[in-house]
Amino acid sequence: MKVLCILYDDPKDGMPKSYPLNELPKIDKYPDGMTLPSPKGRDFNPGELLGCVSGELGLRKFLEDNGHEFFVTSDKDGEGCEADKHLVDADIVISQPFFPYYLTKEKIDKAPKLKLAITAGIGSDHVDLQAAMDNKIDVVEVTYCNSRSVAEHIVMMILSMVRDYHTQYSIVKAGGWDIADAVKRSYDVEGMHIGTVAAGRIGLDALRKLKPFDVNLHYFDRHKLPDSIETELHLTFHDSVESMVKVCDVVTINCPLHPETENLFDKELISKMKRGAYIINTARGKICNREAIAEALSIGQLSGYAGDVWFPQPAPNNHIWRSMPHQGMTPHTSGTSLSAQTRYADGVREILECFFDGKVIRDEYLIVSDGNLAGTGAHSYSKGSATKGSEEAADFKK
Ligand code: NAD
Repeated sequence: MKVLCILYDDPKDGMPKSYPLNELPKIDKYPDGMTLPSPKGRDFNPGELLGCVSGELGLRKFLEDNGHEFFVTSDKDGEGCEADKHLVDADIVISQPFFPYYLTKEKIDKAPKLKLAITAGIGSDHVDLQAAMDNKIDVVEVTYCNSRSVAEHIVMMILSMVRDYHTQYSIVKAGGWDIADAVKRSYDVEGMHIGTVAAGRIGLDALRKLKPFDVNLHYFDRHKLPDSIETELHLTFHDSVESMVKVCDVVTINCPLHPETENLFDKELISKMKRGAYIINTARGKICNREAIAEALSIGQLSGYAGDVWFPQPAPNNHIWRSMPHQGMTPHTSGTSLSAQTRYADGVREILECFFDGKVIRDEYLIVSDGNLAGTGAHSYSKGSATKGSEEAADFKK
């Protein structure tokens, strides 16, 4: 079979000769008891860069030893890109959300052999899920592989925005000691009301990690959490996003992108938020309206906006979120720490082994199966597509 894999570029100065840590901490299970990916083999050292082109997700030996053709590229956007050339006769496509290969309906229509789209990570909105259902292409992701990595990033971003870390760091880098400037927007999170839109694997883990800061925790989700968890974390459940955002100082967004959540944080919803609130969005850029966020920051309706997700990706060089005030954005990195890469590389290999051996892929990994939403897809997504506008990614210049 032909496997097409789209990965981000290698580091500018080449692959690392060594890494800061010699080994990764050992993790046995995820908090709900789900086991970590367990492929039959592994051809890389845990903790190595795997998500870039030369890292190849550690898959080349395995695939070629088993007689498959493996093509890896980072050239994924614009007319005539390498990925499009290979898509026409590919059986399997692997892509990462950090640097997504947007499998739009037009592209799927040009890929008659395509059977399986694997997300090396979590969040399969870069695939037109409706077109995948209509064309009986299965879509799978490595559920839980980086959910806790993202939750760590969320805590980091809440603290850095509320305490205004970025301003303080810039002052030090510039050789200054301007304490009044450094603290004129700096607060403690203690006592604040913090709410998550969605309390799935990431949202719930973020709530648990935030609890020791003595904050008041809120959530909104289409699925209510068990009473025992609500009691343990002193959670306030809201049956609408409006009800939650009007009482929160910090809102963290943790739902997938699908037609129900696209553009959810538009001008109207942001105007209902508590004045001066912060938004942390590590879910997907398109859940927030680009212009509405920038405008709310400029008039003080929002005090800060941080996250690692943009639309499209890579974000155009002139994307307004790069230059708006009080932003603490990173590129899409929270789920691709070296720790997470090891887990999702193992997960992709587990999925491929199952697929080639005709074995069942874990239900948790399924987004679309046999023409319908399935597994995590049925729990967390809605039918339809959220890929419109992705061609703008071709505007990014290195
Ligand atoms: P999950 O499936 O465990 O949780 C998703 C939650 O969203 C579920 O509880 C679901 O009920 C809820 N939800 C879905 N639609 C909703 C709606 N319309 N209203 C309210 N709640 C809704 O997934 P997860 O592991 O927590 O990941 C969530 C999302 O985070 C992913 O789909 C992905 O988009 C994003 N993510 C980002 C990164 C990153 O690197 N920044 C990494 C992993 C995941």
